Amino acid sequence: YNTRLQRHEKMEIISELAASVAHEVRNPLQVTRGFLQLLRETSEDKPKKYLGLAMEELDRASDIITDFLTFAKPQLDDVTILRLCDEFEHIQGILAPMANLQGGDIRVQVSDNLYISGNSSKLKQAFVNIVKNSIEALDSAGTIEIWAYSESGEIVIHVKDNGAGMDENELSRLGEPYFSSKTKGTGLGLMVTFRIIEVMRGKIEFKSKKGAGTEAIVRFPQSTAVDS
Ligand code: ADP
Ligand code: MG
Repeated sequence: YNTRLQRHEKMEIISELAASVAHEVRNPLQVTRGFLQLLRETSEDKPKKYLGLAMEELDRASDIITDFLTFAKPQLDDVTILRLCDEFEHIQGILAPMANLQGGDIRVQVSDNLYISGNSSKLKQAFVNIVKNSIEALDSAGTIEIWAYSESGEIVIHVKDNGAGMDENELSRLGEPYFSSKTKGTGLGLMVTFRIIEVMRGKIEFKSKKGAGTEAIVRFPQSTAVDS
C-alpha cells in the first residue's frame, strides 16, 4: 500500500481535469472575441472603445487560462536536442522591441556549443517570462544581460537586470500564484516558468537587491549535439 503513489495519481487526475476545463473555456472566449471584433468594425466611436476594452479583457482571461493549462500539463511533447544560442537568439528577437520601447537593451552572450534536451517552445516560454519581468523592472535606460556556460555536466544560464530589484519578502514569494506588484500583472508568469524548468529537470534561483537589480540563475543537465 503506497500513499505517495495514490497522491501522485490524484495529482494526475486534477491535472487532466484542469487541462480539459481550461481548453473548453478558451474556445467560447475566442468565439466571443470574434463577434466583438465584428461588432467593433461597424460601430460608432464610443461603443468601439467599449468593445475594444471588452476584447482586451477576454484576451487577459485567455492568457490566464493558457498559463494554467501549461502549469497543469507542461508535458514536453516534442523533446529534441536544443542548441542554446539558437533559442536565445529567438528570445532576443521577440523581446528586443519591448526592451527598446523602454530605452532598455538586451545583451546575449551564449556560445554555439551548448546543448540541452527539451521542448523549444516551452523553453522559450520559460525564459520569455523571466526576461519580460526584467524589462518591466527597468525604470528607463537599463540593461538585461544573458549569458551561459557549462559547468560540471550542467548548463548554467544567467539573466541579470539592473532594474528595480526586490526585497527579501518579494524574493521569497516568487512563483507563488497571483503574487504580483504590477497593476496589470497576472502573477502567473513565474509559476509557469518554475513548472517548465522543473519538468525539464532544471533548477532556478533568484538573487536580488532592492534598487540594484535582479539575477536569475537556471541550471539544466547538459546534452551533446546529435551528429548529422
Ligand atoms: P507578473 O509579471 O504578472 O507580476 P510574475 O510571476 O512574472 O507575475 O512575477 C511576479 C512578481 O515578481 C512581479 O510582479 C515582480 O514584483 C516580481 N519580479 C519578478 N521578476 C522581477 C525582476 N526581474 N525585477 C523585479 N521584480 C521582479
Ligand atoms: Mg511576469
